[in-house]
Amino acid sequence: MKTPFLTKAQAQAIAMDYPTPYYVYDEQGIRENARRVREAFSWNAGFREYFAVKATPTPGILKVLGEEGCGLDCSSLTELMMAERCGFRGDKIMFSSNETPAEEYVLASKLDATINLDDFTHIDFLKDTIGYIPETISCRFNPGGVFTLGHSKEGFQVMDSPQDAKYGFTREQLFEGFRKLKAMGAKHFGIHAFLASNTISNDYYPVLAAILFKLAVELHQETGCHIAFINLSGGVGVPYLPDQPENDIQAIGQGVRQQYEQILVPAGMGDVKLYTEMGRYMLAPYGALVTEAIHAKHTYKEYIGVDACAANLMRPAMYGAYHHITVLGKEDAPCDHMYDVVGGLCENNDKFAIDRMLPEIERGDLLFIHDAGAHGHAMGYQYNGRLRSAELLLRPDGDVKLIRRAETPEDYFATVLWD
Ligand SMILES: *Cc1c(COP(=O)(O)O)cnc(C)c1O
Repeated sequence: MKTPFLTKAQAQAIAMDYPTPYYVYDEQGIRENARRVREAFSWNAGFREYFAVKATPTPGILKVLGEEGCGLDCSSLTELMMAERCGFRGDKIMFSSNETPAEEYVLASKLDATINLDDFTHIDFLKDTIGYIPETISCRFNPGGVFTLGHSKEGFQVMDSPQDAKYGFTREQLFEGFRKLKAMGAKHFGIHAFLASNTISNDYYPVLAAILFKLAVELHQETGCHIAFINLSGGVGVPYLPDQPENDIQAIGQGVRQQYEQILVPAGMGDVKLYTEMGRYMLAPYGALVTEAIHAKHTYKEYIGVDACAANLMRPAMYGAYHHITVLGKEDAPCDHMYDVVGGLCENNDKFAIDRMLPEIERGDLLFIHDAGAHGHAMGYQYNGRLRSAELLLRPDGDVKLIRRAETPEDYFATVLWD
């Protein structure tokens, strides 16, 4: 059962000022979740969540997370620029990019961000680009092979193929890389890995942590490097389906703690800080796309045409991703109509839902598309000349604040040279 964080009356009132489609984020929900994350890892003195900016690159959101103690994980020049303008710098920025252009390392070093190298050859590239190796440096690890969690008690199996992923150092490269970096002046080291996406399992972080903790002990013993932090990166998922179980962040934190106490503490490494770079888990459930039903079409199927399209929320078209839909004001009505809910792109994959059982929808109804807070607006694009929607922040006191205006045709034409 999924409950919208907005009532029909609220959604209608917002639409008076900001026409549909619009994105709306629940500040209270974001803050409470960020506090639960912090609490779950509070046993680790140096813990910090670095919110993955790519999930929701919106300053109004980044500032809220900053107030909750989060840093930012950036992976491009403009994300670094946005972080700087939002007041983040130094150890509040993790820079995890790949195929990194030189200018990005230049800005990352100017901001004193912690740089997470994606490849062995980037050691020399970084030195050549900025002229030195920072005292604190991190490397991304790719263990190769296939990563499995087996069957967790929730009954979900998580599998990914690091061997097919373009990211990270091999194990051998990591040992050699740490030695090389140390010889070039690095003093404090981090290890980073991201092995599975959108996991619904309380075991993902603990299993990943055990791999990285054992590796950290070996790296420390064999290279003499000081391992300052271990970055579990992102990948903690959210239940997009209404009947999926939720991750229990408290249990996840305790699972990681157990590994920490079994592996790192006995090795005399009880000072290692833990970092995370969650995007989806921090934001997805606390953002929604609100769109109006503007047409009902009866042909071989029943279609509801809405004023949003895949250019506003690409995940269903791109991945066949499920996003739950609530027809506002009809929360308790029986779901006895089957619809395809579609946008207006000239692309037949522009469907927010296919064969979805919903209450009877009338023109003018507002649809609340759930779990769009991460990788939602961020993946928007302008195909077919469709424009990206506004983003609004629902404040804890019920006020609504515009944090990004909707694009206008002038924005769309701004880059064009007419003759
Ligand atoms: C995408 C990404 C994340 C966030 O992933 P989520 O699945 O949203 O948690 C974190 N770190 C890096 C390096 C990423 O590329």
